[in-house]
Amino acid sequence: MSTIESITLMLALVYSISLLYWSKQKWGAAISAGVLTAALATTLHWPLFVGLAVSLVVLPLFNKFQPALAQGGSIVGESARGRNKADDLREMIRHLLALSMLLVGVQFAINAAMLKSGVEPLLVRPDIGDAFLPIAGGIELKAIIGLGIWDQNHPAAAVMLVVVVLTGLLCKRAFCGWACPLGLAGDYLYALRKRFIKQEFAPPAWLDWILRMLKYLLMAALILLVFTMPLASIPHYLDGYYHKVADLKMAVFFLNPTAISLVCFSIILGLAAWKRQGFCRYICPYGALLGLVSFLSPFKIRRSTESCLIEGKGMKCDKCTRACPANIIVHTQTTIRSDECQACMSCISACPKNEALHFSTRWGTKMSARGLAVLLLMLLFMIPLWAYVGGFWHSETTTEVRMMLIQHLNSIGH
Ligand code: SF4
Ligand code: SF4
Repeated sequence: MSTIESITLMLALVYSISLLYWSKQKWGAAISAGVLTAALATTLHWPLFVGLAVSLVVLPLFNKFQPALAQGGSIVGESARGRNKADDLREMIRHLLALSMLLVGVQFAINAAMLKSGVEPLLVRPDIGDAFLPIAGGIELKAIIGLGIWDQNHPAAAVMLVVVVLTGLLCKRAFCGWACPLGLAGDYLYALRKRFIKQEFAPPAWLDWILRMLKYLLMAALILLVFTMPLASIPHYLDGYYHKVADLKMAVFFLNPTAISLVCFSIILGLAAWKRQGFCRYICPYGALLGLVSFLSPFKIRRSTESCLIEGKGMKCDKCTRACPANIIVHTQTTIRSDECQACMSCISACPKNEALHFSTRWGTKMSARGLAVLLLMLLFMIPLWAYVGGFWHSETTTEVRMMLIQHLNSIGH
């Protein structure tokens, strides 16, 4: 695990534990701290201790200057103050995760450039980059389930696929709304477009539906690819040159696009700029997968008709609907089941009534933005940490092999 991965991981986990502590979940904080300490003691991996030291310096400073984000509030229900800070918390988490991914990208590029020029890389390859190999992750999962084989080249791809699906199963598409750097980039692109062209281009409902199905088609094609791959051929594939450099092939695909890929990229960028969350809504196959599994999530946005101004006071209100970036009609429903809900909680923040909207289960268990942040960060970082401890994170492909293969990248096929 590289230093930047370790620092991000420790910052996220120590911050989650501190949120648990400040929200009076002292047992939860103690158990999480114990699990973290056990992982550190087992690995004795020095960058994790650097990450711990950074956390112990940064978080008290953060607590001093941003106490509302560093502590305060409950993780099970939303106070008025907590509701106002929910958007800030989400924005902070998405920006910090995006910054970390950017640094990971730079590290990956430096590593690849040095490999290409035949020099021993000064920076190791960050394994988290494998999160961008969902097909490899799917094939690896098939190998684990069907053959009991754990891939040693990109094990993090399977780990991250499981982690992301778990987030969808537990807390809707919170991964899209709170963690995904591509979603954040799409938001910036949309905001940039709005600066120059103010007009909103809402497609008619029928076109919006057809476009939304695009991502499901892409997802189905990818899943089909994995499902139709004969089980017997998987060990050969996992041992092959293509799989060993799948990450480098992916990087080349984006950095040296063909004419067809350029047209596809332009359409994707155009959609992201044209419509808020256009990329997540229309294109992203990961978003489609999360949308599907999110139907099973016990936590959903729920509207209490007794507290809502509409039924409770007979007033007109649609602030929640107007705040929703996913264009979901919130104010007429009691439970938001939509596959587009990213659990961003903007509807809750916008609602003038404290008790009208919750992110909760059907049995009444509520989760605040803080609680969601803790759950998401724990899933995104504690599972990879234990995967690392168990030897299912770090790639065993040697630098020599990658240096040799990168010289012949164009001639390496499936
Ligand atoms: S329904 Fe609420 S939580 Fe879901 S996407 Fe819309 S604003 Fe966000
Ligand atoms: S913003 Fe709140 S009060 Fe208004 S319609 Fe939505 S849930 Fe009801």
